[in-house]
Order: sequence, then structure tokens, then C-alpha cells
Amino acid sequence: SKKKKEEVKAKAKDVKKPLFPQPLTSFSDLRSAYNISTRLEENLAKQGYRIPTEVQLGSLPLLLQPDRAIPSTAAEELHFTTKSGIDFLAVAPTGSGKTLAFLIPAINGILRRRAGDATQKEHVLEAIVVAPTRELAHQIVNEGRKLAQGTGVKIVGMKRGMQIPTEGQVEDGASDEEASGSDQEADGSEDEVKKDEAQKQMTTTKTDILVTTPMLLQNFLKSRILLTVKALILDEADVLLDPLFREQTLGIWSACTSQHLRLTCWSATMGSSIEGLVLEQLKARESDQPSVPLI
Ligand code: ADP
Ligand code: MG
Repeated sequence: SKKKKEEVKAKAKDVKKPLFPQPLTSFSDLRSAYNISTRLEENLAKQGYRIPTEVQLGSLPLLLQPDRAIPSTAAEELHFTTKSGIDFLAVAPTGSGKTLAFLIPAINGILRRRAGDATQKEHVLEAIVVAPTRELAHQIVNEGRKLAQGTGVKIVGMKRGMQIPTEGQVEDGASDEEASGSDQEADGSEDEVKKDEAQKQMTTTKTDILVTTPMLLQNFLKSRILLTVKALILDEADVLLDPLFREQTLGIWSACTSQHLRLTCWSATMGSSIEGLVLEQLKARESDQPSVPLI
């Protein structure tokens, strides 16, 4: 298998831009092929993870590529979208290890950007995981914290009343403060506004990865936008796109206004709600637009 690996490497070197990311056989390949953080690799080993599951084998090579730098030819082959829309959809049964499959790239992406930019503030909200229930969100936080141990990546579970950092807050219209009239006395006084902002900053929970239910985040967001978020992860996406959660989920998506946003969906079933959304997107994008990769 070592020989095989070398062959793969040699082949990849021959081509200027390899069509497909390098195949994965074990978690220890992640370091050599994708240069993942040593600490992250150690944490995986510590948890006893050695052989990636099928959904991990399929998704990690794609999602560990920096941002959207998936080779365009490969993108066409894989129908990996490079415009706004669902970038990736994995359908794999319950218990198949989808959590690791989205947490590893989320954590590694943050570490990679941090390593490349010394000026970056220590904690920037870069990834949001949305899950339909608090119990599931709690499990994801726990799993994420074990993986991120010693990396400095902060994973936080959203709570009612918690403030998270937002950017480009919408100034006119019905923000909740205006609706409740609480900033009336700040009207016309720049200093007051500044003080107000400073106070808000103080109580903001610093986080790199936020794990939340749709309702908890939507209640906080209102008209705020999340400019810094690079990864929006919908776990149990079939449920999140159900009529019950759909509006909140789509609201969160539209609040993530970064041009570099990567939206990934994870589900145990294809489900009509996902299918519906995918079809809507395809229609909206016309026939020359690529579809969504399925794993
Ligand atoms: P899913 O979200 O697909 O239903 P989970 O992410 O909850 O599945 O994973 C199910 C269980 O499998 C968890 O206990 C997890 O720790 C374990 N697991 C995940 N990936 C691996 C792996 N590569 N090797 C061994 N166990 C794994
Ligand atoms: Mg799951």
C-alpha cells in the first residue's frame, strides 16, 4: 500500500493541477496529503479514530482543500458549485460518522487561515453548525471540543440571550433595538451609540465555531448579518429544510453574506425538502450551472 501511495503521489506530481484530490486511506494520510494540523491529527488518534468511514473518505479530500480552491476541472466533474448555493451535500446513514466529516475541515480551515495571517484576531466566528435539536448541538460541541483540544479553536454552543460577534449590522429597518425603542435616547448622539456598541462588544462571546439550533440563532440574529462566517454546516439538513425549520434555516443562510461562504449539507436521507431545495437552486441557476455533489 506504501507503493500504491507513492504511485498516487507520482501521478499527482505529473499533472499540474490534479483532477481529483488525493484519495484517503487512513487518518494519518491527512497530514501528508492535506497538511492538517499535527494537533488535530493527534487528537483523532487519541480518540481512537484510525480508519475513516465511507462518508469521511468521500468528503474529507474535497473539504480539506483550502476555501474554494477546488480545481475547476474537478469541480465540473464533481459538480462542485463555485457560486452561491449548496456547495456540498452528503447523504449517509445515521452512525456513519458525518460529525467528524464536517468538524475536521471546519477546525482545520480555521487553523490554516490563522497560520497564514498573523494579524487575524484570535477568535473570529468562521463556522456555524446548525442542528435541529439542542441535544444534537450539545453532542456536536462535545465532539468538536475533543477534536480541537490544544489547538486554540474555540467551539461554543449557542444559548438564549448570548451575544455573538456580528458585522455590518443593518442600520435602518426593524432591528430589535429599534423595535423595542431602547436606543431612542442614543438617537442623535454619536458618543452614546459608541458606548452602546462598546457595551455590546464586552458581553459578546468569543467563538470560532458556533453550534446552534435554527431558532436560537435566528432569535439573536434578527436583521444582523454574519460577514465573517466562511462555513455554514447544516447537520440533519433534511430536517432543517423541513417546513418546521425551513424559514429559520434559510434566514441564517442569507445572513451569512461572505463571498467565500461554503455551505455544506449533511443528511441521513435525501428527503423531499432537500430535493426540493436542490431543484429550486438548479432552476434558478439555469442549465449551464453545475448541480450538487452527492456522496
Ligand atoms: P452520524 O452523524 O453520521 O449519524 P456520528 O457522527 O454521530 O454519525 O458518528 C457515530 C459514531 O461513530 C460516533 O460515536 C463516532 O465517534 C463514531 N465514529 C465516527 N467516525 C469514526 C471512525 N472513523 N472510526 C471509528 N468510529 C467513528
Ligand atoms: Mg449526525
